[in-house]
Amino acid sequence: METDKQIRYYELLEQLIAVTRDTDNFSIERINEPLAGLCRLFRVSKGVTEFYKSANHEKSGRGEVFVCYDSGEGGSEIMGRRIVDESMAVSKCRVYMAEGTEPLSDEEREKVDLVMKVVLSFISNSRLRKIVERLTFYDDNGYRNMRSFIRCLEQLNERKQLGTHTAVYFNLRHFSQINQEIGRNNGDIVIRNYYTMLEEVIGDDGIICRAGGDNFVAIFDDGLLIDVLEILKGVPVSYGSNSSDRVNVSASTGVFRIPDGFVYEDVGDIMDKIATTSRAAKLNPSDNIVFFDGKTEEGRERLANFRKLLPLAIENGEFKVYYQPKSDIQSEEIIGAEALCRWEHEGTVIMPSDFIPILEQSSDICKLDFYMLEHVCQDIRRRLDGNKPVVRVSVNFSRKNMMDADLSEHIIDIVDKYRVPHDLIEIELTESTTDVEFKEIKRVVSELQQEGISASVDDFGLGQSSLNLIREIPWNVLKIDRSLIPIDADNPHSTRSVMFKYIVAMAKELGLECIAEGVETEKQVNMLRDNSCSLAQGYYFGKPLPTDEFEAKLDK
Ligand code: C2E
Ligand code: MG
Ligand code: MG
Repeated sequence: METDKQIRYYELLEQLIAVTRDTDNFSIERINEPLAGLCRLFRVSKGVTEFYKSANHEKSGRGEVFVCYDSGEGGSEIMGRRIVDESMAVSKCRVYMAEGTEPLSDEEREKVDLVMKVVLSFISNSRLRKIVERLTFYDDNGYRNMRSFIRCLEQLNERKQLGTHTAVYFNLRHFSQINQEIGRNNGDIVIRNYYTMLEEVIGDDGIICRAGGDNFVAIFDDGLLIDVLEILKGVPVSYGSNSSDRVNVSASTGVFRIPDGFVYEDVGDIMDKIATTSRAAKLNPSDNIVFFDGKTEEGRERLANFRKLLPLAIENGEFKVYYQPKSDIQSEEIIGAEALCRWEHEGTVIMPSDFIPILEQSSDICKLDFYMLEHVCQDIRRRLDGNKPVVRVSVNFSRKNMMDADLSEHIIDIVDKYRVPHDLIEIELTESTTDVEFKEIKRVVSELQQEGISASVDDFGLGQSSLNLIREIPWNVLKIDRSLIPIDADNPHSTRSVMFKYIVAMAKELGLECIAEGVETEKQVNMLRDNSCSLAQGYYFGKPLPTDEFEAKLDK
């Protein structure tokens, strides 16, 4: 080989080796430039490298193929090399020469072979690195895993950038229901698309990882917070090509805006905060995003304490029955009442929103419901014995009670124990979320009705109200949720006003008693009157009162 060709060869080889050694900037594209030069130098018309994860993979022929140089002149294979590395992965390299080209000398063949060896070892290393990276930092479904998250936290911490970032933990809301509705495969597509949506917003300024099931974690530049929350609050996500192939996805999210100077020791310092706030968000029916602050920690302790105190609280009679009147809007007379629970603990009154969600995590809630029913029956019995006026009282029963196959029997046993006329008791149930529950509710309501005990749909309009639920279950009362009662600012054509009007009309048509919940103003009372909804429960007519105060009102 003449000298200047020799020099050029060494220059290109050096360049090639330099690229392969620069492991931080590994990329196939970067070796193409020196390789193309080498191909031209040795009159090669085309250079191809292939990578297969295993010999079987090689047989299938579906490996990764890189064409590093192609002059377009075609030609036939003149040399090739194949290596199998320790992990049994196969790397191959082939070079082609166009017809009529001067063949390679022995010296040239040796040099081309050396180039192939360099390229193959580079390819196999770089691919293996990718495979190891995939196995280590991604889960079986191709989502980044917690190791990715930890690595990202550590990198940010090293660069002292944690302070400009926000971490979130989120759980997709009602995802089992979505799976039920559209099928698991479509459910998977929805999760993937939702994840991608967030990944696109977060970009290179952070990372999103799957923590298992429908739980995810993410960390990103604080400046992206609003955009990220927009998606987490709820967006339509498609799973098919039809415009109707969409479901709304939202997440219960715990947010921790990492303060400047935050001391990071390990992933637990951040995970503990976002995981518990996300759980708080899950229990919070009104807001699915909860921010971490010192108080969350306090709240968590309070919850843990509650849980310990509960069994004793029932035993000590710390749960009290409060009664909220239900009124006829025309006469303003009390026509009934709802029994609402208050926990009087060490001088403070704890509201249901602070303990019902905790009780609902176990069957403790059922104990409370029966406790309430028993006390209501005792109160009615006492008044009947004293010849005092009585009204029908409704008692809330959590859906958790549906697990009890003899629920209606157990209810009737208590009512009869106090010899309370059945028509003085009403059981409030909320809408069902699953088919199984639907069947159970239908059975329980029918059994109660046979015994002359009323059943009401509580919070109608708040959940996924279905007309089926109303049509197929023999309810006596429809309680329209506060969120569907037009507010003073609503005009008669607002969605709320129109929906309200039709729900009242529908209830009437189906022979259901209809009562509006959460009526607070005179204007609302007038609106009820205009829509022929004659019954109301709300602060306008009276707040929930302790037993003695309510009874005093009833006596008047
Ligand atoms: P709910 O059954 O829908 O009860 C109505 C809630 O709305 C009560 O809240 C009541 O105080 C409130 N409310 C009534 N009128 C108005 C109004 O005009 N404006 C506003 N803003 N609110 C009004 P409370 O007592 O805090 O109870 C909340 C929920 O806790 C109840 O909702 C019920 O789902 C649950 N709950 C209460 N006691 C029990 C119980 O003994 N067992 C079960 N399972 N759940 C209970
Ligand atoms: Mg209720
Ligand atoms: Mg209600």
